[in-house]
Amino acid sequence: MSTAKISSSRPLRVGIVGWRGMVGSVLMSRMQAEDDFAGIEPVFFSTSQAGGAAPDVGHGTSTLLDASDPAAFDGLDVILTCQGGDWTKAMYPAIRGRGWGGHWIDAASALRMTDETVIVLDPLNRHVIDRAYAGGTRTWAGGNCTVSLMLMGLGALFRNGWVEWMTTMTYQAASGAGARNMRELVAQMRAIGDAAATQLDDPATGALELDRTVAEAVTAGGFPTAQFGAPLAGSVLPWIDSLQPDGATREEWKGHVEANKILALDPVVPVDGLCVRVGAMRSHAQAVTIRLTRDVPLADIAAAIAESTPWTVVVPNEKPASLARLTPVAVSGTLTVPVGRLRKLRMGPEYLTAFTVGDQLLWGAAEPLRRMLRILREHVGT
Ligand code: NAP
Repeated sequence: MSTAKISSSRPLRVGIVGWRGMVGSVLMSRMQAEDDFAGIEPVFFSTSQAGGAAPDVGHGTSTLLDASDPAAFDGLDVILTCQGGDWTKAMYPAIRGRGWGGHWIDAASALRMTDETVIVLDPLNRHVIDRAYAGGTRTWAGGNCTVSLMLMGLGALFRNGWVEWMTTMTYQAASGAGARNMRELVAQMRAIGDAAATQLDDPATGALELDRTVAEAVTAGGFPTAQFGAPLAGSVLPWIDSLQPDGATREEWKGHVEANKILALDPVVPVDGLCVRVGAMRSHAQAVTIRLTRDVPLADIAAAIAESTPWTVVVPNEKPASLARLTPVAVSGTLTVPVGRLRKLRMGPEYLTAFTVGDQLLWGAAEPLRRMLRILREHVGT
């Protein structure tokens, strides 16, 4: 066993991998904002810059260790990784195989659905986490961004046993596909703006003329589509991730399996829908339809949602409030998860619709991970 014995008399030794990536950078800034580094002994790793300078997070200077060397993780209490699924698939068995018995906290999807892993979203599943910790679980994964954000918004309805089934129709931001995709979206916007600049400056230009220019720009040879494989600016892409045997995409499959696993739902509640990429930068949105298990009054639904977490807010079903508070732009960079457009559908009083948005790099990625580290510290008493 190469893990040091965890003791409340010393800070946890936490290996941090993937800290300079997109999720890792958000994680680092949240940990600094919440003073998380004060109570731990961080050890930074890199797959590409070992031997270089590690970030100084209040513990002085240090050197980056080699994230590709399993032995370099010996003696750590916790490994916190945002490095990605390929690294996890290679290093998790290699490090565990050395007898390392510490806590592994991971942003990637690689381990999420394995039996030894709990998907963490503690405002909704702290009971699942605590039960698993007591039972010896040592592997924790953040959930898929869209799933975590849906549950941050609407988890209360599942907890109350009100959901017979749910469809989620998503409007997912470019950031979910990675940093290069965010750049490509903006590059596409610039290419369109450049092509249309002269006509835009001339108020006499007709809308159809402008439209022709944009249509030509997005289909022109030099239009940047290397990452998305198609124009996203001025369009939407109804496909995220790979095809599953039943015709769903893997992103759509995650909605069902992860939501049920996070909340430990029994019996299983069907969750399905279509996942679509839109030209938002870093916040996802989704429209849901819920078949309720009974005719729950709308006021009770709104109250349950509003009380479910300190970050979940109900936006009145009015145009000014919806445009001001229920958009990707409104929530980007914040932990707030608004839920609005709440109403019963004409199909009957058991049919509810809602729209919810959230910053997919915060609750969708980094925040559940840093909170899991806090939970471990609570359990250990450091
Ligand atoms: P990323 O930005 O590509 O970063 C991953 C690693 O790439 C970095 O840690 C860094 O590792 C290396 N890297 C190489 N060149 C870099 C550069 N110029 N700048 C920064 N890093 C560079 O990956 P990510 O989008 O954060 O995703 C990490 C994991 O989180 C993935 O498993 C992903 O599926 C998961 N996740 C992502 C999101 C999301 O919204 N993107 C949401 C939830 C979960 P070295 O220091 O070792 O070189």
